[in-house]
Amino acid sequence: MITYEQFYENHQRVLERVLAACARAERDPATVKVLPVTKTHPIDAALYAGRAGYTAVGENRVQEAVDKMTTDAGVQWELIGHLQSNKAKLAAEKFHRVQSVDSAKLAKKLATAASEQGRVLPILLQVNAGDDPAKFGLGCEETPAVLELVLGLESLQVDGLMTIAPLSDDPDVARKCFERLRDLRDQLEARFGVNLPELSMGMSGDLEAAVASGSTMLRVGSAFFGAR
Ligand SMILES: *Cc1c(COP(=O)(O)O)cnc(C)c1O
Repeated sequence: MITYEQFYENHQRVLERVLAACARAERDPATVKVLPVTKTHPIDAALYAGRAGYTAVGENRVQEAVDKMTTDAGVQWELIGHLQSNKAKLAAEKFHRVQSVDSAKLAKKLATAASEQGRVLPILLQVNAGDDPAKFGLGCEETPAVLELVLGLESLQVDGLMTIAPLSDDPDVARKCFERLRDLRDQLEARFGVNLPELSMGMSGDLEAAVASGSTMLRVGSAFFGAR
């Protein structure tokens, strides 16, 4: 694990990249949040993030995150990895938000669990906007029907959409994926008359393209904490 000083330097470098990307896109930097992704790293990663002023971190496995939550790092925990239905109850209980809702079945399971726990669970719908066979996520065509279902579930609050761009050396691949997610969001807002403010897209390697395409939340792992 890197030291806090190393983390803080990385954090400053990420900030500089985000500020430069916002300047190029003529966007207010206050509209772009950064979510440090602490998966595979010890609890220190979440402690560093909290100490540097981040209010939430991202994890992609339920059990790994739940184990870390036994330490109070002063941050909220967001689930960004694929969630199996049999872990929906635990996830609804432990996470501040689930960004990886990728099926109607999972949405219903989370809604039932949140309702039993007497809470409203914030979620994002994960969309496979890059049509990548290696990625989870709803197809763009099926997203309207799942959104309609979710809007009818009182114990879920849908904040927006999330995507992971296909791995590629060609920066246009990520940019197209992100623009497609943004366009889908705009269409869904118009069709259902709702606000879907959060566009969670962009990681260490493609955050510039994500900012240019309207991202409101960059999920950054390796640029903060080093290679996994
Ligand atoms: C691991 C992960 C990230 C962070 O990726 P980096 O390339 O390390 O920045 C972002 N989003 C999801 C869904 C991830 O699983």
